[in-house]
Amino acid sequence: QADMALFQAKQAGRDTLRFFDPAMQAQIHARVRLEAGLRQALTNNEFLLYYQPQVDANRNMIGVEALLRWQHPERGLVSPGEFIPLAEENRLIVPIGGWVLETACRQLAAWAENPATADLMVSVNVSPQQFRETDFVARVLATLELTGARPEKLKLEVTESLFVDDRDEARETMRLLREHGVTFSLDDFGTGYSSLSYLRRLPLDQLKIDQSFVHDLLQDEASAAIVASIIALSHSLQLDVIAEGVETEAQLAWLMAHGCRAFQGYLFGWPEPVTSLPFSD
Ligand code: C2E
Ligand code: MG
Ligand code: MG
Ligand code: MG
Repeated sequence: QADMALFQAKQAGRDTLRFFDPAMQAQIHARVRLEAGLRQALTNNEFLLYYQPQVDANRNMIGVEALLRWQHPERGLVSPGEFIPLAEENRLIVPIGGWVLETACRQLAAWAENPATADLMVSVNVSPQQFRETDFVARVLATLELTGARPEKLKLEVTESLFVDDRDEARETMRLLREHGVTFSLDDFGTGYSSLSYLRRLPLDQLKIDQSFVHDLLQDEASAAIVASIIALSHSLQLDVIAEGVETEAQLAWLMAHGCRAFQGYLFGWPEPVTSLPFSD
């Protein structure tokens, strides 16, 4: 630690006098440990998937979103907000994302065996680093084949950041997978920085309204206007639309009144292990 402080002081340059900052040091240390743990997590089988229901206007379950959890040996359940950004930085998200996809597809194949669950769609989050791998299409197809999951039941959730620079490549990747029946949802829609014109040419199936807008819907006119616009936009572009983060009956009523017909949020169910889902025995 003394070495590290000295190193930092040297880095800061000759003219700067930088004092050893224990809080910052502790932060760096925690991050290094988290990263070391993350490298072990796959081989130690510490990841698991939770599933959160998605429902239609009659509150029937139409699908689930697979959400990654890390069962840390000391820290307990770690949420993806804590480790996904780190995994994206060091590219561990590529193998981790592969595990997520395979696990979700195995679940899909198992659900297909039971008439009560055979129609469920499974949404899987895909990070840009994973999506941009040159063999991403091949890997998804190989996973579908390996697990026996039907491509029509797999929905990949991507974010707007994918379309900021390499738009053509992203479109081609989506087009190839869609030819095999896989569908695409644009997650956290409305929070990105890209222009709307790209939407026209993307082979998308669904827009997913970001939960921050849904959360503020009834208190903030601007959020309400944005949500109403996204729903209208989805209709005119002939895309499905789903609202995420629906927590109250009042939000649901507003969304229904504005033409939204698919929902996800604590009002209908929390993300849970597969054995806790309503239809599991
Ligand atoms: P997301 O894909 O936008 O997922 C929705 C997040 O909102 C989930 O957080 C979910 O638990 C939470 N949520 C669901 N309903 C409600 C609600 O009614 N109110 C509120 N306030 N929150 C709700 P979670 O599970 O912590 O995941 C956070 C983010 O981590 C995800 O956001 C996604 O971007 C990322 N993530 C999760 N699993 C994966 C994965 O397997 N791969 C990748 N690349 N990213 C993942
Ligand atoms: Mg998502
Ligand atoms: Mg989202
Ligand atoms: Mg989000």
